[in-house]
Amino acid sequence: MKYADIIIDISHERLDKTFEYIVPTELENQVTEGVQVVIPFGQGNRAITGYVVGLHNKPGFDVTKLKPIARVLKDSIAIESQLISLAAFLKKNYGSTMNQALKTVIPIKKKENEKLKKEISLNISLEQAQIELTQILTKKNHAVGKERLLRELLEVDVLDWELATKKLQIPSSNIRDLESKGIVKVESVRTFRNPHINKDANQKHIVLNEEQEAAAETIKADIDTGRRKTYLIHGVTGSGKTEVYMDVMEHVISMGQQVIVLIPEIALTYQTVMRFYTRFGDKVSILNSRMSPGERFDQFERAKSGEISIMVGPRSALFTPFANLGLIIIDEEHEPSYKSEVIPRYHARETAVYRAKLAGATVILGSATPSLEAYSRTQTGEYQLITLHSRAMGQDMASCEIVDLRAELQSGNRSMLSRRLQELMADRLNKHQQIMLFLNRRGLMGFVSCRACGHVLKCPHCDVALHLHAGGKMKCHYCGYTTVAAKTCPSCGSKYIGSFKAGTQRLEEIVKELFPTARVLRMDADTTKGKDGHEEILSAFAAHEADVLIGTQMIVKGHDFANVTLVGIIAADISLNESDYHSGERTFQLLTQAVGRAGRGSEPGIAVIQTYQPDNYSVVASANQDYDSFYSQEYAYRRLLSYPPCSHILGIQISCDKQQDAIKQADIIADIIRQADSNIIIMGPEDAYIGKLKDVYRRVIYVKADEYDRLVNVKDTIEAFLLQQKQYRNTSTWFDFDPISTI
Ligand code: ADP
Ligand code: ZN
Ligand code: ZN
Repeated sequence: MKYADIIIDISHERLDKTFEYIVPTELENQVTEGVQVVIPFGQGNRAITGYVVGLHNKPGFDVTKLKPIARVLKDSIAIESQLISLAAFLKKNYGSTMNQALKTVIPIKKKENEKLKKEISLNISLEQAQIELTQILTKKNHAVGKERLLRELLEVDVLDWELATKKLQIPSSNIRDLESKGIVKVESVRTFRNPHINKDANQKHIVLNEEQEAAAETIKADIDTGRRKTYLIHGVTGSGKTEVYMDVMEHVISMGQQVIVLIPEIALTYQTVMRFYTRFGDKVSILNSRMSPGERFDQFERAKSGEISIMVGPRSALFTPFANLGLIIIDEEHEPSYKSEVIPRYHARETAVYRAKLAGATVILGSATPSLEAYSRTQTGEYQLITLHSRAMGQDMASCEIVDLRAELQSGNRSMLSRRLQELMADRLNKHQQIMLFLNRRGLMGFVSCRACGHVLKCPHCDVALHLHAGGKMKCHYCGYTTVAAKTCPSCGSKYIGSFKAGTQRLEEIVKELFPTARVLRMDADTTKGKDGHEEILSAFAAHEADVLIGTQMIVKGHDFANVTLVGIIAADISLNESDYHSGERTFQLLTQAVGRAGRGSEPGIAVIQTYQPDNYSVVASANQDYDSFYSQEYAYRRLLSYPPCSHILGIQISCDKQQDAIKQADIIADIIRQADSNIIIMGPEDAYIGKLKDVYRRVIYVKADEYDRLVNVKDTIEAFLLQQKQYRNTSTWFDFDPISTI
């Protein structure tokens, strides 16, 4: 006999409130997680519908009190069923409770006070607004936010406050200022509306080039003949993948179906968002991670009611409850942000493919530097590969030069800038062309250490370094612990204690010394702290308000700078030294994307890659813009060492505030794994990457197997064990399948 957990109201905050029913033998084959069923409910046995969210062989209650499921609702295409099946998929393949999985896919309606939406519109005529704009532009160092707001309001009648301040990154002070001058007015409205865009004024008509056309036609022809597949569009940077997506989207929407477009948060910029708005107008809605649960809920409601047919957003947009989903697009599919960092730690790519299967939809993945996972599936025929070989307007790819920093050092140049790069910079500055300098370095900068003995000052609650902050304070970025900056080293007493400057900051100083008249902008975690920082710096650079843009990986995404003819990569191998099997892939991706920033306009571009490892295959392949050669070498390496996609890894983290208990429990779990699968490869237990966080000790075990299902079995066995274990209930355990960073 089987028993089913049934959930009755999925908009309820407590999704774990389920009711148990008997599955009659004749229904056993039909009752699976996600199906909609009719059950007798309450005293009067009223027939109501519910969803099956769990199945088990043992009853959790007195069987004589349980009632049987009346029937299965056939052909129930309710979107809820699909989402619940999706939750079951997450639970099984990534490890979590059903409740956690349900909360991931179904937005919770919180009782929130209804918030009034604010809208901004012009308070003056269009002609007057044009004059105001001209006046603003004549001012040196004018507020970019004001300029943008006026430009926007010259195109659209009303602008949503949230959109203006969040997505378009216009500072609210700028809006209030224009309001106080009587130029714009801000009004509160009850309902949510998209910006109204004067489509004709805005739409630049793009005709797909031959390659783009062929790509779009292939996919559309399959859709028309009922073949729903997963495609990987491998298109060089600037090849116009987005135009291909939009062409297929239009086709799918004309068939009355809906589209989800996933974009990594970092690339969800003003430019990208506007491209979708101008093409599809009111049909589009945008999700972003800064929205409150209530706002997300509202967006999902609009999707369910058919008010919109395109949802653009980061990975969580994948769960948009479109009833008739026809297409899922994942742009920049290689981005690590598609893997969830909270439980269930799902990957949006695999989950999208599963959702598409349930919905009968097509999936398009796109990237200039596909992940090994996706590309290897095109080799086995699981996905179909579509290649865009050239840039949209036929521009040449940037030519690339590798500079060996070891040779540079030997010849006496100790600067961060090689002589070749300096020479090219001088030339570009002379020609009034723009330069981007890219320093791929993050994480450890700013931490406090002793220059005499190397001692690193750590947080007493976490196994991580403290960072120096303004006002003579040191702070832990994980738990917020703050203390007075040390004056002497607690280990050796030396007074040579301090923080490393961010590499980008040093670089900026060097550039300013060498080229005193060059206008330099810097973009890194420091300069983008304010929420408008990011977008403001990029727009200023796009408007040629600076000659040189220095930055971390943030600068390689999103914007198209036509005037950039030189890209300098200061230290290409920094990311190669990360202790993670992805480091070769990340390096190749970052370098290729960075090189791809050069020569987007009519002038050809040059990229200079400075490196200590000029022979490394990731460096050489990105310099040659040769994905195939990178792929075959990286794949061979993964094959040799049994890393994904050739094999699979399950990371298990065990944590406890008592160190001894964490250690013991991890040992017990390792034993359970050995008993469950005596031939499986187990690494650890050992301390986690961060061995202590907020006073909680963390141990990890890694398990490797060629077959994913074997790892799912391991996880199931551990879960079953944990459920009945009496000891060590103060510990907690979670799973990470094919982790993308060291846990
Ligand atoms: P990708 O996403 O592949 O990097 P985009 O879709 O962003 O490329 O296109 C790069 C630029 O080329 C954009 O400014 C886009 O408007 C332009 N573009 C793309 N396709 C065409 C085309 N067929 N004709 C004219 N311009 C195009
Ligand atoms: Zn010291
Ligand atoms: Zn801490």
